[in-house]
Amino acid sequence: MQPDTMLVQKSPTQPAGLYAELMSHAAGLPNDEIFAQMIASQIDGAGVLPPGLGLELKDFSALLSQHFPGIKLVVRHAETGVDPRALERDDVLALLLEHRAFRHKSEEWMAEIVTDACMANDHLWQDLGLWSREYLSRLMKQNFPSLAAKNTKDMKWKKFLYKQLCEREGISTCRAPSCDVCADYAKCFGPEE
Ligand code: SF4
Repeated sequence: MQPDTMLVQKSPTQPAGLYAELMSHAAGLPNDEIFAQMIASQIDGAGVLPPGLGLELKDFSALLSQHFPGIKLVVRHAETGVDPRALERDDVLALLLEHRAFRHKSEEWMAEIVTDACMANDHLWQDLGLWSREYLSRLMKQNFPSLAAKNTKDMKWKKFLYKQLCEREGISTCRAPSCDVCADYAKCFGPEE
C-alpha cells in the first residue's frame, strides 16, 4: 500500500505557474513534461492522483530530483490503511512493469502512477491529470513500448489494459465474438473526451 503524501508548494504559484516552474527545471528526460502536468494538475485538484502522485516519499523525492533538479517543493506524508483492491493493483502493475522500456528508473514510478489512476472511473488521461489523450499515448509508448504496440486499433487505454489482463487469464467478458460486430464498440474505442 502506498503512503498518503501531501505536497505543499514552497512558493505561491498557480498550477500553470507551477507547470512552467517545473519545466524551467526540467532535466531533459522523456517523462519530464508528463510528470510536470501530473504534479501541476494534482495540486490544482484535477485528476485522481494523491499528493506526491501516490508514490512513497523517497520515490517522489527521487522523481523531483531526477526530473526537476533544484525545484523547491516540500512533501508531507502519512500512512494509509489497507487497500481492498490490492490484488487488482498488483495485476495492473505487473502488466505494465513486464513491458517497461528499461531506459530509465522513472518507468517504475510511471507504472505505479498509472496503476493508481486505473482504479478511478474517468478516462485514464483525465484521471492522471494529463492535458490530453495524446500525452497518455506518448506516456505508454515511451515507458511501456511493447504493450503500447499491441494497441493497434487505438482502443481506449484503460479498457485496453484490462482486456490484456482478461486475455492473459483466458477470460472473455465481451458479449460479441469480435470488436467489429460488437454493440459496445463505442465504449472501447473512439474519442476519449
Ligand atoms: S468492442 Fe466489444 S468485443 Fe471489442 S473489446 Fe470492447 S466489449 Fe469486447
